[in-house]
Amino acid sequence: MTTHTTDVFSASTTDGKQAVQPMRPAFRVGEGWDCHALVPGRVLMLGGVPIAHTHGLLGHSDADVLLHAVTDALLGGAGLGDIGRHFPDTDPRFKGADSGVLLQEAISRVRASGYDLLNVDCTVVAQAPKLAGYMASMVQRMADLMGVHPNCVNVKAKTAERLGPVGQGLSMEARAVVLLSAHAEGA
Ligand SMILES: [Zn+2]
Repeated sequence: MTTHTTDVFSASTTDGKQAVQPMRPAFRVGEGWDCHALVPGRVLMLGGVPIAHTHGLLGHSDADVLLHAVTDALLGGAGLGDIGRHFPDTDPRFKGADSGVLLQEAISRVRASGYDLLNVDCTVVAQAPKLAGYMASMVQRMADLMGVHPNCVNVKAKTAERLGPVGQGLSMEARAVVLLSAHAEGA
């Protein structure tokens, strides 16, 4: 296994000039952030799990703020741009889309680019409802969607101490960080 391979730059031309090869680090980190408005009359989806609440998140898709942050972190870590580039909200195919399907598609593109997910750590910032009772199901659902063990997925929840739009219950935010490792050569 050559997980530590990374010829960052290697020379290979016959005339003695240095040829810069594409960089393929053994590890890459990715960061994601997302925010959606909270409105009445929508189902609240977080981490692919329906959550009992008076309001839901507004968006073109199911507006799962947590899955969107993770999806962006994965794509960013692999250097593949962002969720808007892969799944534009102007595309009618993604209207009301299950964000779990978008996450599955994103991780398959990450794997196709030569990287595996080692772990993801994320935080939902929401004034209400209390999410502690949903943590285990969110972790399991996200692990299933990404094809990893649940101990590779960590979800935290915080309030915004009643400050700003999140604290006033007008919106929710989520952040995510992922660590990716390169496939062994030839894998
Ligand atoms: Zn979003």
